[in-house]
Amino acid sequence: MSNSPTRASRFAPTIGSKARIGVSFEFFPPKTDDMEKALWESIGRLAPLAPNFVSVTYGAGGSTRERTHSTVRRILTETALTPAAHLTCVAATKTEIDDVIRAYRAAGVRHIVALRGDPTGGIGERYAPHPGGYQNGADLVAGIKRIADIEVSVSAYVEKHPDSPTVEADIDMLKAKVDNGATRAITQFFFENDFYFRYLDRVRAHGINIPIVPGILPVQNFKQTKSFAARCGATVPGWLAERFDGLDEDVATRKLIAAAVAAEQVLDLVDRGVTDFHFYTMNRADLVYAICHLLGLRPAAKQAA
Ligand code: FAD
Repeated sequence: MSNSPTRASRFAPTIGSKARIGVSFEFFPPKTDDMEKALWESIGRLAPLAPNFVSVTYGAGGSTRERTHSTVRRILTETALTPAAHLTCVAATKTEIDDVIRAYRAAGVRHIVALRGDPTGGIGERYAPHPGGYQNGADLVAGIKRIADIEVSVSAYVEKHPDSPTVEADIDMLKAKVDNGATRAITQFFFENDFYFRYLDRVRAHGINIPIVPGILPVQNFKQTKSFAARCGATVPGWLAERFDGLDEDVATRKLIAAAVAAEQVLDLVDRGVTDFHFYTMNRADLVYAICHLLGLRPAAKQAA
């Protein structure tokens, strides 16, 4: 038997010793009444964990965008949570986007996740900025800051954004976002923690000192995860595929494996000094709630008791 500490014994003192773990949860705006119900059940379940903020994604097309706005408004009016509204540059003029920023500010939004967004024809197509619009994430950050003194988070890509010719170009874009006023980056999801730390070293070497919060995607559905990963350039390691092998029709086992995989990932990140996590919830609370429990988070009322 080895004398080195087990994960459990290494982990427990970290949680006990006030290394406060901060979390945020990402949701997407629901399309149907059933999805709406599922979203609000998830928000209700996760809210007592007192996240730093909950973010709501922003899509292409007017109706999708209106769903983002109404979800954000409902979070503001019906919960004590702090919403972060996502906003993209896609298919809109600067004037139109500036109006959204002003409307968010008027509604009480104090945090925006600023993104370029994907091409309207889908990923794989070359992105063409709207002729009268913001050019990219960095340009949008500057636009938001010109209008309102609002907290701005941005994206970061541990494995490089597929459009970016090099990792250097990607990091230069992140630097431009920070220079324009972004104060937090949230990463695209990844499964190899070493990639995150390698990226962090490179980002810090470029003099970027804002928090680079790991985006964690619990694998609710492996097939779907593989397709997301292919689109955003994230590696799906062989060991991950192996763990879900043969479970396509076995939802119950898949869920247990997903919890184990995500637990392993976040606990390793904690062991290596990470204290903040952003969870891509896919509007489902169960796995994320369990992982947060492992991270030492408890419902606010219980903590206070
Ligand atoms: P940017 O940071 O502006 O650019 C990404 C990279 O592409 C840069 O490194 C840059 O080098 C390169 N690049 C940019 N423009 C060009 C160009 N014209 N030519 C060559 N290279 C270029 N999408 C949504 O639609 N809605 C959301 O709510 C949403 N939320 C997200 C939240 C997070 C945390 C993350 C990580 C992603 C999210 N996305 C969302 C996905 C995102 O919109 C896509 O990844 C998009 O392709 C890039 O947006 P960005 O802001 O990261 O781009």
